[in-house]
Amino acid sequence: MSQKRKATTDAGAEKPSKKPNLTFEKKADGWLQEQVLQQRAAKKEMKFNKKRLRFLTDTQKLKQGAEGVLYWMNRDQRIQDNWALIHAQRLALKEALPLHVCFCLVVPKSKLSTYRHFSFLLKGLEEVSQELKTLGVEFHLLHGPPGDVLPGFVSDRSLGAVVTDFSPLREPLQWLEDVKKKLPKDIPFIQVDAHNIVPCWEASPKLEYAARTIRGKINKVLSEFLTEFPLVEKHPHTATRTAKQVDWVKELESLQVDKTVGETEWAKPGTKAGMAMLESFIDVRLKLFAAQRNDPNAAALSQLSPWIRFGQISAQRVALQVKKKGGESAAPFIEELVVRRELTDNFCYYNKKYDSVEGAYEWAQKTLKDHAKDKRPYVYTRDQLEKAKTHDKLWNGAQFQMVSEGKMHGFLRMYWAKKILEWTSSPGEALSIALYLNDRYSLDGQDPNGFVGCMWSICGIHDQGWAERPIFGKIRYMNYKGCQRKFDVARFEKKYCPKDL
Ligand SMILES: Cc1cc2nc3c(=O)[nH]c(=O)nc-3n(C[C@H](O)[C@H](O)[C@H](O)COP(=O)(O)OP(=O)(O)OC[C@H]3O[C@@H](n4cnc5c(N)ncnc54)[C@H](O)[C@@H]3O)c2cc1C
Repeated sequence: MSQKRKATTDAGAEKPSKKPNLTFEKKADGWLQEQVLQQRAAKKEMKFNKKRLRFLTDTQKLKQGAEGVLYWMNRDQRIQDNWALIHAQRLALKEALPLHVCFCLVVPKSKLSTYRHFSFLLKGLEEVSQELKTLGVEFHLLHGPPGDVLPGFVSDRSLGAVVTDFSPLREPLQWLEDVKKKLPKDIPFIQVDAHNIVPCWEASPKLEYAARTIRGKINKVLSEFLTEFPLVEKHPHTATRTAKQVDWVKELESLQVDKTVGETEWAKPGTKAGMAMLESFIDVRLKLFAAQRNDPNAAALSQLSPWIRFGQISAQRVALQVKKKGGESAAPFIEELVVRRELTDNFCYYNKKYDSVEGAYEWAQKTLKDHAKDKRPYVYTRDQLEKAKTHDKLWNGAQFQMVSEGKMHGFLRMYWAKKILEWTSSPGEALSIALYLNDRYSLDGQDPNGFVGCMWSICGIHDQGWAERPIFGKIRYMNYKGCQRKFDVARFEKKYCPKDL
């Protein structure tokens, strides 16, 4: 963050590096942190909108004689600007009880469990635990699936209520069910959507067809939910039994993950770094967003997706600050951050087949089937694609950008995924390769945005049928020439296609 980079007009001097195409004309000076501190303090007494929560159990009253309240942190890994933690603290304050926060660390044995993702997660949690310490709140790192470790922890510590956050994805939903089954019946289990601005269940009770069908619903209630946040304050009631100390260095060292996919240089984990990235976006890049967001050579995007993905920064905070700044880029940016992003939670929540061709609309499944036997000009294996060994330098460059920097430019993500459909033997294979690569290398991967991004590009989700073409049928097509009309492709290739690729 602190590094000043030369403006990227001098393409000849650019070399592939682990730093993204960002222009930091200004070092983050922390004005934003100062400003939000004041904003939160001013809203200390603010009411909590109960539509943000729902009870997962019949019991709604905190257990009498309990020794604390627990926030089981999962998707939203931050302290401030977190409605789930705000609610948990208020419950604890009402009953004059200590507040606890826990996180259940699960590391699946998978090629998607990389050091890149888990170091970002753990280092972010280390910052969370340090901040909680200053607030007099205990942080517990539990190891294992929540269903196995959380109910016992709640009983052992005599906790009287469990608050958690919301994710529409399969695995966390299963965790929720597992915990619900084993939690003592007299403990209320409360879920707060701390990730979306308009809670997923409030935005729409059903699967939405496209951005145009959810936009009006979100905008209708946006002013109710796009509010300031009250401060999570120093907790006055401390626990007598403290948490087990976490040795963060050991935790990192002992991770059973794929270390060949390493950390990125540019994206520092944690809320502080996320806020610094937001500050630099507001100061430097926001004004370019409206005109240059589709140019992969320009530094016009927020670059915030990794922090939003891990919940280290709140999308609501981002929206508030961008709205405050205003300008012509604010509206198109908020369309992406709010409407497009919340549409992806809607898709995954209401469509259990969110990551398979069977989850596509009927017209899309039919058109893909009708064109299954169309002749493919090139067919590549997953391995060739992973190593960026195709005939197309732009595609190879985009793949290299994702592998080396942990993030591909948003415009290229579409081109990249659509070419995988063109170059593999079936849509099912294309989707599974696209998801595998995106989720393995993108720091913001394994997120509803990624599932929908790939489903959109390959299976026409949230899109409409277009003219028939070989292979793509009615799925929207993108070609190299089209990219050349949009931006300086040669410049991108020069930067991201090293000779030894
Ligand atoms: C094939 C494909 C795969 C994708 N995979 C992911 C992924 O794994 N994770 C991910 O977060 N996004 C994904 N996207 C969506 C989008 O490309 C990224 O959110 C964006 O590039 C992130 O960069 P940024 O934060 O600089 O974006 P900005 O343009 O600055 O946008 C700010 C925020 O708005 C949201 N946003 C922007 N565009 C979209 C969109 N099209 N759909 C939903 N939300 C959006 C994101 O939260 C993003 O961080 C994918 C898109 C495609 C086509």
